[in-house]
Amino acid sequence: MKYTLTFDQYQQGLEKGEFLGLSCSNCNAVTFPPQGVCRECSGTDLEVTGIKGNGTLRTFTVIRVAPEGKRPPYVVAMVEIDEGAWVIGNLIDINPDDADMGLIGRSVKLGSQVAKGDIYSTGDTRVITFSLI
Ligand SMILES: [Zn+2]
Repeated sequence: MKYTLTFDQYQQGLEKGEFLGLSCSNCNAVTFPPQGVCRECSGTDLEVTGIKGNGTLRTFTVIRVAPEGKRPPYVVAMVEIDEGAWVIGNLIDINPDDADMGLIGRSVKLGSQVAKGDIYSTGDTRVITFSLI
C-alpha cells in the first residue's frame, strides 16, 4: 500500500510546528492525525492538507494512576479541531487539580511535545498537545 503521508513525514511536520492531515477527494472530510483511509468514508483518494491548529475542547480526564514511565497527574483531552476531526492529546499549561467542567467548550491551540519511548514503542515520538487560548 502506498501512503499519501507517512508517519515520518507527519512527525517531521510536528517538529516544524506544522500539522499535516489528509483531505478526502471523495467526501471532503479532513482526517487528522493522518491514517490510511478517510475517517468518514474510508476512501483512499487523499491529499495532504495543513491543519490550522485550532479547536474546541470537548471532553477530558485527569490521569492520576499513570502507566510506567509517565508522571501523574496530567490531563488527557479530546478536541474537535476546526476542520472537524476529533483529536486526542495532553492538555498542558494547566494544573490538573484545577481541571473542571469549565474546560468543556474552551478554545485551544494545538502543539506537540516529545513522548519518551517505552517498552511498548519504537522510541521517542512527537504527540499532540493542547493549550487553552
Ligand atoms: Zn472521505
